Amino acid sequence: MKTLIVDDEPFALKLLERQLANLGFEDVIACEQGHDALAVLEDGKETIGLIFCDLQMPRMDGVEFVRHLARLGYAGGLVLVSGEDERIIQTVEKLAHAHRLKVLGVLHKPVLPERLRQVLEKHLTRAAKTPRTARKTYELDELWRAIAEGELINYYQPKVDIASGAVSGVETLVRWRHPQDGLVFPDQFISLAEEHGLIDDMTRVVLAASLRQARAWRDLGYFLHVAVNVSMDNLAALEFPDFVAREVRKVDLPLTSLVLEVTESRLMKDPVAAMDILSRLRLKRIGLSIDDFGTGHSSLAQLRDIPFDELKIDQSFVHGASRDASLRAIFEASLAMAQQLGMKTVAEGVEDRDDWDFLRLTGCDLAQGYFIAKPMPGADIAGWMKDWESRRSELISTPR
Ligand code: C2E
Ligand code: CA
Ligand code: CA
Repeated sequence: MKTLIVDDEPFALKLLERQLANLGFEDVIACEQGHDALAVLEDGKETIGLIFCDLQMPRMDGVEFVRHLARLGYAGGLVLVSGEDERIIQTVEKLAHAHRLKVLGVLHKPVLPERLRQVLEKHLTRAAKTPRTARKTYELDELWRAIAEGELINYYQPKVDIASGAVSGVETLVRWRHPQDGLVFPDQFISLAEEHGLIDDMTRVVLAASLRQARAWRDLGYFLHVAVNVSMDNLAALEFPDFVAREVRKVDLPLTSLVLEVTESRLMKDPVAAMDILSRLRLKRIGLSIDDFGTGHSSLAQLRDIPFDELKIDQSFVHGASRDASLRAIFEASLAMAQQLGMKTVAEGVEDRDDWDFLRLTGCDLAQGYFIAKPMPGADIAGWMKDWESRRSELISTPR
């Protein structure tokens, strides 16, 4: 796969070409204008895996170029290069994201070799992962069989208290251990299950396994809340709260040890039924969490109508908030609103130390994300807790 650079300044073009060659990227096509670059892509003789694009160009500017890339369905990596100020670059970056282009990063001119190396590393990791994410669509009967034969397994991702570093619980994330394809992620089968009415069976399997696991942890002396994701489609059968409560009692745990996370990924078919069910779950003291807060269409209306006691701020407002004033504003507004409503707050997508340090300065209660732990099989949690114990004191040493 080749790399394409578009920049109207011949000197900048040469310089970047040289820098790329130094890092082992020698198969480069350099174009002085957007039209030439598009011609290469449209021609299709060369497979382009990576594009560097300048924003300020006299004939076709970077925004237009990005729009054409989206039109062509370009699936490789994109790096924006510019001397413009931060706000403009960020806006174009968001625009490219909105077009579903894979933006690997932004480089300021003059391009620093260290930054370039970081962006290329990201490109290589992404390219290496591509076979796994090569999306395969599954057939309904295959999913049926998977549920029936126990191929769905739960992974668990810890949530920790930001003030004390204590592990408060885990979120259950389902995986499909596919006999041929290996580990398949939920975004490849949840909507299939929802569309064909399999989601109830799936949720039952996931919930039961999660509660059994919580029981096993408790027997080992770990008091962990477990959260389970439920789909809006689970909130159509009026007996759902009774079913859930029965499942919790079966493993002899308090109802307060379960949290259900709800998103509005699909339209509520029957809002009255959903309100009935959610109110009864709360009356039973089962935790209710509004998931991916800030991304749905009626998140605020949901807050008004449903007695949620926890709010999860979506990862798109958390990761990078320390460096981005707009994200920070949205994060802080969501947090303030949740606090005024007396809800517990969870920040999702805590990916690095900067995200963690930022959260320490806010009043957010819990954190979840790759920086703390990736989702893992239940059997790995105890080992992770030991590792976490050794990281914990340093992470909470700065004052809040
Ligand atoms: P979600 O509920 O928002 O779950 C969080 C997703 O973010 C998980 O993806 C998790 O692996 C990922 N994640 C965690 N930390 C980080 C981080 O620091 N950075 C980034 N970039 N990502 C992070 P996963 O496991 O692929 O799940 C995707 C979605 O599938 C979940 O989103 C949830 O909506 C849905 N899902 C998972 N399990 C179930 C289930 O049992 N039932 C239902 N209905 N939906 C489920
Ligand atoms: Ca969730
Ligand atoms: Ca979420």
